[in-house]
Amino acid sequence: MRLSRYFLPLLKENPKEAEIVSHRLMLRAGMIRQQAAGIYSLLPLGLRVLENVCRVIREEQNRSGAIEILMPTIQPADLWRESSRYDDYGKEMLRITDRHERDLLYGPTNEEMVTDIFRSYVKSYKDLPLNLYHIQWKFRDEVRPRFGVMRGREFLMKDAYSFDLDYEGAKAAYNRMFVAYLRTFERLGLKSIPMRADTGPIGGDLSHEFIILAETGESQVFCDRAYLDMEVPGIDVDFRNDEEMASIVEKWTTPYAATDEMHDESDWSKTDESDRLSARGIEVGHIFHFGTKYSEPMGATVTGPDGKQHPVSMGSYGIGPTRLIAAIIEASHDDNGIIWPESVAPFGAAIVNMKPGDRGCDEFSDSIYEKLSNAGIDPLMDDTDQRAGAKFAAMDLIGLPWQVVVGPRGVASDVVEIKNRRTGDKQELSIDTAVHRIV
Ligand code: ATP
Ligand code: MG
Ligand code: MG
Ligand code: MG
Repeated sequence: MRLSRYFLPLLKENPKEAEIVSHRLMLRAGMIRQQAAGIYSLLPLGLRVLENVCRVIREEQNRSGAIEILMPTIQPADLWRESSRYDDYGKEMLRITDRHERDLLYGPTNEEMVTDIFRSYVKSYKDLPLNLYHIQWKFRDEVRPRFGVMRGREFLMKDAYSFDLDYEGAKAAYNRMFVAYLRTFERLGLKSIPMRADTGPIGGDLSHEFIILAETGESQVFCDRAYLDMEVPGIDVDFRNDEEMASIVEKWTTPYAATDEMHDESDWSKTDESDRLSARGIEVGHIFHFGTKYSEPMGATVTGPDGKQHPVSMGSYGIGPTRLIAAIIEASHDDNGIIWPESVAPFGAAIVNMKPGDRGCDEFSDSIYEKLSNAGIDPLMDDTDQRAGAKFAAMDLIGLPWQVVVGPRGVASDVVEIKNRRTGDKQELSIDTAVHRIV
C-alpha cells in the first residue's frame, strides 16, 4: 500500500475525550471513529488489526476442534422467552419492534439461538462432542461505555458453545477451550492469567476470566506472581488428548488467581507474601460451564447410550476481539505510539522514502516493496513529501514492527536504514540483507 493513496487520518493533537492510552492512540493513529456513545467505525488501519486478531482467534478455535458458523445479530424475543432471559436481562438489552409488532432484540450473546440450532438437528450422543462458534457483533447498552473499544456498546465477540452428553464430557470441552485461550492470547503478544470467576447460581469451579494485567483495567484482581513466568502450551499440544488437556488446566489453576468477586483472603494468605500480586486487570476472555441451564427449558436433548433422553451439558466461551485491540495497545506502546506484535500488525513493515521523485530513492523503495511483498510481508510505503520529522513521528505512532528508511545519502552508498520499532535498534544494510532481516 502507498501512503499517498491510502486513507490514514492521523490526528496531530491528543483527543480530549480519551482517558486511557489505548483510546488516545487508536484515535491518533486513525484506527477508529466514534459514531455514537460506545459505537465505532473501524477505519482501514483498525480494520486490518481487527482482522488479524480474528484470524489468530479462528486458527486456535479451529485447532481445538470448534466449528465456525455465523448467527445473525438480530434475534426473535420468543427464543429468549423460552429461557426466561427476555425479562431477566434488563436494560443492557436493546429491544426492537418490527413493522408487524413482533419483538426482536440485538443479540448481547447467543446461548438461546445456538441451543435452538442444536435441538433442531442433533438427536444422538453419537454426534457429540460438538462446539459451535461465531464471530459476530453484539450490542449491550452499557451504563458507562468508555475507553473507546475497550467498553463499547456495539462490540465484536467470538462466542463458542459446547454440547456434551454429561458433565465429564463438558469438562473436557471446557479444558480444550481453556488451552485454546492460553494459546490465543500468547499469540497476540499478551500475558493472560486465567482467574477463578463467578459462576452465579450454577456453582462449581468451571468459570475463568482471562485477565491481562494493566493499570487501566476495570477489574481488581489477585494472583500469584508465578503466572508471569509460566510457559504456554506449544503448537504440538494435542487437543484430542483429554488427559493432556486436564493436566495443563490443572497446572494453570493451581497458583492463586481470582477476580474481586471470587477473592478469598484466607486462601490468598497461603501464597507467599512476596509472590502476592494485587493489581488491575482487563477481562479479555471468559469461559463458563453452565450445564443444562438452557438445554433443559429449551428441550435440547439427545438419546444417550442407555436409550433415554438427556438434556445436553453446555458451556460458553467468549473473547472480545475489539476490546483485545485496546488491551494489546495498553500492553505494548511507548511515548511515541503503538508497538504492534507481529501477529496483528496492520502492515509488516514501513518503507519510508525520504525523497519521493528522486530516481535512486524511488528505485530502492520500489525494489524493497517488491521483495517484501514477494516474501509475504505486506508493506506500507510512505511516498508522501512531508518533512522527515513528520514522517518518522507518523510511522512511530502507527507502530509497524519495522521501518526501512530510504534516503539519498544511503542510496549513494547502496544501503538503507532499518529500525526495529520495539527495540529502537537501527542498522544500515544492503537492500537484500535488510529484507532478509525483516522476513
Ligand atoms: P465485563 O465484565 O467487562 O462487562 P462481561 O463479563 O460482561 O464483560 P462476557 O459476557 O463474559 O463479558 O463476554 C465475553 C467477552 O466479551 C468479555 O470477556 C470481553 O472480552 C468482551 N466484552 C464484553 N463486554 C464488552 C464491551 N462492552 N465492549 C467490548 N468487549 C466486551
Ligand atoms: Mg458486562
Ligand atoms: Mg465480566
Ligand atoms: Mg465475563
